[in-house]
Parts: sequence; C-alpha cells; structure tokens
Amino acid sequence: MAEHIVKILESQYINPTVKRFVVQKPAGYTFTPGQATDVSINLPEWKEQKRKFAFTSLNRWEHLEFIIRIYRERDGVTEMLGKINAGDELIIGEPYGAIEYKGPGVFIAGGTGITPFIAILRELYKNGQIGNNKLIVSERTSKDLILDNELQNMLGNNYIKTFTREGVIGFIDRHINEDFLLKNISDFGQRFYVCGPESFVKNISNMLIELGAKPDSLVIDK
Ligand SMILES: Cc1cc2nc3c(=O)[nH]c(=O)nc-3n(C[C@H](O)[C@H](O)[C@H](O)COP(=O)(O)OP(=O)(O)OC[C@H]3O[C@@H](n4cnc5c(N)ncnc54)[C@H](O)[C@@H]3O)c2cc1C
Repeated sequence: MAEHIVKILESQYINPTVKRFVVQKPAGYTFTPGQATDVSINLPEWKEQKRKFAFTSLNRWEHLEFIIRIYRERDGVTEMLGKINAGDELIIGEPYGAIEYKGPGVFIAGGTGITPFIAILRELYKNGQIGNNKLIVSERTSKDLILDNELQNMLGNNYIKTFTREGVIGFIDRHINEDFLLKNISDFGQRFYVCGPESFVKNISNMLIELGAKPDSLVIDK
C-alpha cells in the first residue's frame, strides 16, 4: 500500500483531550467523506506504529485535517501525537472503507466516533443537503465535545448531546439506552449510522434492531 510522508502545518488542542492537525495533502490524494487511513509518526522509533484516523477535512480543501483524542496515560501513538507539532512529519496510507453516506438518517457517535461523521456532515452542509439528518453524540463530559459550535450551527435542533460522566447538577449522566433512543428518535424505519468504540457500536446496533430498525439500514464500520 502506498505511503506518503506529509508535514504537519498546524496543530492545536481544541479541547483538553483532543488535538487538531492540519497536514499537507499529497498530490492527487482523494477520499470519500467518512473514510480513514493509517497514520504513523515519521520518527525512527515510531514509523511502524500505525493507528487509524478518519479524515475530517473535505476533498476540496487544500490540506488534510485529523482530529485526534490524545490518551496521555496510554504510552501509545496518540500520547506522542500530543507532543509533536507543526514542522514534524506523519506517514499516511491510502484512504480506505469505513463509513459512507447512503442517504438521510440518524448519526450516533460515541467519543471520537464522531470524526467520520464530521466529514460527511460538513460535505452535506456545504452542498446545502444537511436536511433533516440528526446527530446524537455521547461524550464523557461537555468539555470533551468535539467541534460543538460547528455541529450546533450545522444541525440546530437535530444535534443532541448526552454525557456519561458530566457529574454536574442539571445534567443527567447516562449511557444511551432504549428509553433515550425512544425519546429522541421518532422513526426506527430510517437509516442509522453508528460509530465509536466496538462495544458502543455493538450495544447501540442491538438496541436499534430491538426497537425496529432493519439490520441492513445500519451503516457501521465492520
Ligand atoms: C476506522 C477508525 C477510525 C478512527 N478515527 C479516529 C479519529 O479520527 N480520531 C481519533 O481520535 N481516534 C480515531 N480512532 C481511534 C484511534 O485509532 C485510537 O484511539 C488510537 O489507535 C489509539 O492509539 P494509541 O497508540 O494512543 O493507543 P493504543 O495503541 O490503543 O493503546 C496503547 C496502550 O494503552 C492501553 N489501552 C488500550 N486501550 C485502552 C483503553 N480503552 N483503556 C485503557 N488503556 C488502554 C493498552 O495497554 C495499549 O497497549 C479510529 C479508529 C478506527 C478503527
């Protein structure tokens, strides 16, 4: 598989745990919104350590963008990504699979599972096709939300947030359950996009099917 060395042009934390990277785009490099690629850091001891990240930029942008949660406690690639900045280099592979827009529906994201949806929703918004698409985001706390303002602006009332560990009066800490889905989704005959940790995707998919969704109406990264 072809690999490309790309320079980081810009990087900054957009919340306490998430860092945005703008990187060079190789000539002729294209992808479908929702796709991801293998990324490693171009340093001798790191270049073989590949991790998957979704593109949050659009094809028509001059550069690529990745939005990455930094796990400082894990001693892994993202901890190192937390330390590198503009001028450092990444190695990226070819774009591949993952999630693709197949028509209007409800997007349900757990944590950084939002990233492929960001590209899809940005593309729809740019093309005036955001329509009645709905986004449900489950995050640990409100401080961990990714691109909250932009998503609010794009989706208005069709942007729903829920927190598992907010721990603040006025917020209900909860994991998405069937009651929550029933309250926030009126039609289980529509299409659903689900992305997040494996257990999140499995649990949400099972609940949706239990509530009447057809298995082939679920778009997930298998
Ligand atoms: C298709 C796809 C697209 C993705 N896109 C994005 C994206 O756009 N943005 C983004 O931020 N993430 C994304 N991810 C997730 C991302 O790939 C992982 O967060 C990343 O690989 C973590 O790398 P790491 O080296 O820091 O940690 P890891 O290699 O996962 O972990 C390092 C060490 O920490 C320990 N560890 C692992 N998991 C846990 C855990 N849950 N709790 C505690 N300790 C643990 C293990 O001992 C492990 O050896 C995507 C994943 C997939 C599959």
